[in-house]
Formats: sequence, C-alpha cells, structure tokens
Amino acid sequence: MSEFWNQRTKNLSPYVPGEQPKDRLFIKLNTNENPYPPSPKVLEAVKNASDESLRLYPDPECTALREAVAERYGVKLEQVFAGNGSDEILAFAFGAFFESAVPVLFPDITYSFYPVYADLWDIRYCKIPLCDDFSINIKDYKETCGGAVLPNPNAPTGIALPLDDILSLADFLEEQGKVFVVDEAYAAFGTKSAIPHINKYSNLLTVHTLSKSASLAGLRAGFAIGNEKLIEGLRRIRDSFNSYTLDRLAIAGAAAAVKDAQYYEEINSRVIATRERVTKTICEFGFKVLPSSANFIFMQAPGIAGADFFAALRERGILVRHFNKERIADYLRVSVGTDEEMDKFITACAEIKKT
Ligand code: PMP
Repeated sequence: MSEFWNQRTKNLSPYVPGEQPKDRLFIKLNTNENPYPPSPKVLEAVKNASDESLRLYPDPECTALREAVAERYGVKLEQVFAGNGSDEILAFAFGAFFESAVPVLFPDITYSFYPVYADLWDIRYCKIPLCDDFSINIKDYKETCGGAVLPNPNAPTGIALPLDDILSLADFLEEQGKVFVVDEAYAAFGTKSAIPHINKYSNLLTVHTLSKSASLAGLRAGFAIGNEKLIEGLRRIRDSFNSYTLDRLAIAGAAAAVKDAQYYEEINSRVIATRERVTKTICEFGFKVLPSSANFIFMQAPGIAGADFFAALRERGILVRHFNKERIADYLRVSVGTDEEMDKFITACAEIKKT
C-alpha cells in the first residue's frame, strides 16, 4: 500500500499471470502457449514490416488485420475490432457494455481476469456456480442481469458448451437488451464457434486471441467479431484510452497469421491429437481428467493435494498451473506441449503417483 495510491488503486486485486521463468529451463506447460512455432509467413511479414516506416504511427484501425479477419470469416470490416491481445478487448468490452446497476454474469470457475475487469470498471457481477461435474448449465444464466460473459470452451476446465446453448442465451439476452460476450480463446482446439451467427444477434460479441491457436502469445494480438454498433462501442473506449494499441509489426504479423489457416489447422490438429493421447494414458493411471476441448487439460491426481502435485512436477522441471481456489485447489491445469514434452510429463506423473 502506498500513500500515493488513490482509492481505486488501493481497491484493486490485479490478475496474476502464469510464471515466465528466467532462471531455469522448464518444460513450460503453465500458460497455454502453443508448443509449435508461428507460421513462417508470419515471421517473414514481421521482418518485412521492420523497416524505416517504424518512425510512423501504426494504422489506428488495424485495417490490414481486420481485412484479413473479415475475409477469412465472411464478415464485414465494420464487424471486426482488433486489440492488443484479447485481454485488452475483454477489458474494453466490460467498460463499453456493462454497468453497475444490474450484475453481469459469469461462472464461479472461469478466466480469473473477468472479475478484475469488472472491479476496475466498478461493475457489479454475480458468479454462477458450475455444476458438480464442472459443466455450465445455460439455464442458470437466463435471468434478469446486466449481460453475460462465457468462455467457450471454459477455462481452466476446458469443457465446451454446445453452440445451441450459446445461441439460446444470446437470444434470451437480446430480448433483455443485454450484451453477451463469448470468449473463444480456445475454440480452435475443438469447439464450434459462434462467429457464423453474429448477424442474427445484435448483442453477441465473440472474442478471439492469436496467442494460443496462432502461436503468437509474444506478439499480443486479438480480435472481436460482432454487430457494427458493438464494434463502435469498443472503439469509443479504445479511443478514450490509447488509439494505437497494435504496433506495425503486430498488425503485419497478425494479418499474415489469419491468412495462413492451413498451417495453423495442421499444428493445432497435432495439439488435439496429443491432448487425447495424454488424457487416455493418464486416465489409465487413475488420474482424473475433465473432458477438454482446449489446448490444456484440467486434472486431479489420486490422493495427492494439488499444491503437492504442482511442487513435485516443478522439482522435475515441469511447470504447470495451480489455482489455490475453492473447488479446484486439488486440480492442475496442464497446457498441451509437444509429444516429447508430454511423454516426460506422463513419466513424471507415473513417478509422483508411486512416491
Ligand atoms: N481468455 C481466456 C479464457 C484466456 O485464458 C486468455 C489467456 N490468458 C485470454 C482470454 C487472453 O489472451 P490474450 O490476451 O493473450 O489474447
């Protein structure tokens, strides 16, 4: 606490990102990065953009990236917003669409940045408990509220909702005149996207990141797709904050990534195949793994506390994510790495179980 902080700063409980270790080489399975490199076309685009034009500001509308998104997903340029990672877009969405009078709804176990954004903007929220099997019951969200935010698939559980559930909530909230944000950060790993339906729902905003499925966590780029008026709302918030959120290199690299769907389908299908193999193997050892549609698994070791399991893996040079929170303290979230990395993870799990 500092005497110089204003009340707002004092009240914050900031998000704590996963560790990026510098002192030791770990098998890094803690922040859901893609284990495969970005498309060579992305690296070339970034190199080509690295020239004397860096003295000029970037395009505040990120047109090259938004055009690539519009083309790939068959939407209008005006239906696309680009941001410095999807975190930024989510932060803008909370500021643009929700208010403090009626609470916005999201699950009790979900991406832990949502309550941070709500607090930052002074928005009331209500955490809806997941069912006992950690799934979402969409009926629980069909109540008078200030809007809803759902990741599909959910994080850190990895469990996906059927598209019909998403659309039925969009319908319900549209009638109430409330916005529904669907965070599709992990949708490319096996979940049906709501993008093809955005023309039907004026209140539906899908949010996407290039950090996971496009192997570009280090570039910081994301986009949102929705009705023109929602996009305009996001732009109003951005332009009251910082008009140039994506730099020239990021715009060029992200546009090239969006255009190279074929490369990414190939590497992501490898991630999915590895996820299924690892899940099957460790379930055979007696570990519990929730059904994942993401590039991570959420798992529990039999008879071992989550914190101890985390520490035992760390000792063996494997870094995963442990959330010391109610209901999930005995679970670990493990990003899917290469087959070689995951073989080491499987061996470590077998060893830890024995000791
Ligand atoms: N949504 C979810 C559910 C996430 O797990 C993450 C990654 N931590 C993000 C959004 C943000 O991703 P980024 O800012 O890297 O685009």
